Amino acid sequence: MKEKTVLITGASRGIGAECARLFAKNGYNVAFCYNKSIKLAEELYNELLTYSVKVYYERADVSKAHELKNFIENSIKTFKQIDVLINNAGIDLQKLFIDCNEEDYNYIFDTNFKSMVVASKLVLKNMLDFKAGKIINISSIWGLTGGACEALYSASKAAVIGLTKALSKEYGRMNITVNAIAPGYIQTDMNKNVSKNDAEAFKESTSLNKLGTPQDVAELALFLASEKASYITGQIINVDGGLI
Ligand code: NAP
Repeated sequence: MKEKTVLITGASRGIGAECARLFAKNGYNVAFCYNKSIKLAEELYNELLTYSVKVYYERADVSKAHELKNFIENSIKTFKQIDVLINNAGIDLQKLFIDCNEEDYNYIFDTNFKSMVVASKLVLKNMLDFKAGKIINISSIWGLTGGACEALYSASKAAVIGLTKALSKEYGRMNITVNAIAPGYIQTDMNKNVSKNDAEAFKESTSLNKLGTPQDVAELALFLASEKASYITGQIINVDGGLI
């Protein structure tokens, strides 16, 4: 069977790391980048090798187009074909909107949105060469509903939804699907500053009365990357236990 490769942005921790593990366990070669967590990235690299797949990783701050470009070009050099792109790297900012400044705007939008524009453009060129590909963008339920004290984050995640839908229309005829996942409350470092009471309130607001795990998101990504999902494109799929 032909080898397949997934490229994941921001996979040293959380949802990205879990996607890397699950895809590797399912036989995918993995290219991933990280920004600050060098030790975790090294550990993940060593773990992924134990699944008998090829792995390439590099430090690249996705908010800096030239660093992201180097990482993607090196990944393509290594693997020739990128079958699946998971645009995952993201950051949160909890702040009153009236206190947000231009620096906050650039920080959030460069990391959460511009990175997806840059990565999608470069990887799409490779996918077009092979007339095949699956792009999976990690948005958020806040991109659908808006979240108080997270206006810039919500807006960046809404932008991801617009990009997803537009690219699905532009590249569907080239056998490339583009979908987004909108996670609810997932237990990762991103929520480490959420108080116990607030986490409990989120949990109780879900239909399933439980918080999500990185595995819940990774399983959907694996499905969307598979041939089983070949007639699904332009969709925003919530993984939120019924929160919204
Ligand atoms: P996380 O645990 O904080 O992990 C974030 C990952 O992204 C880390 O591997 C981090 O790498 C990487 N990253 C952050 N900034 C980066 C940059 N500038 N360049 C390269 N890598 C960068 O967060 P998570 O919960 O897994 O979030 C993953 C995605 O899911 C994000 O897009 C987030 O918005 C989305 N999401 C999460 C939730 C949730 O409840 N957790 C809900 C909805 C959507 P380093 O540690 O190496 O810097």
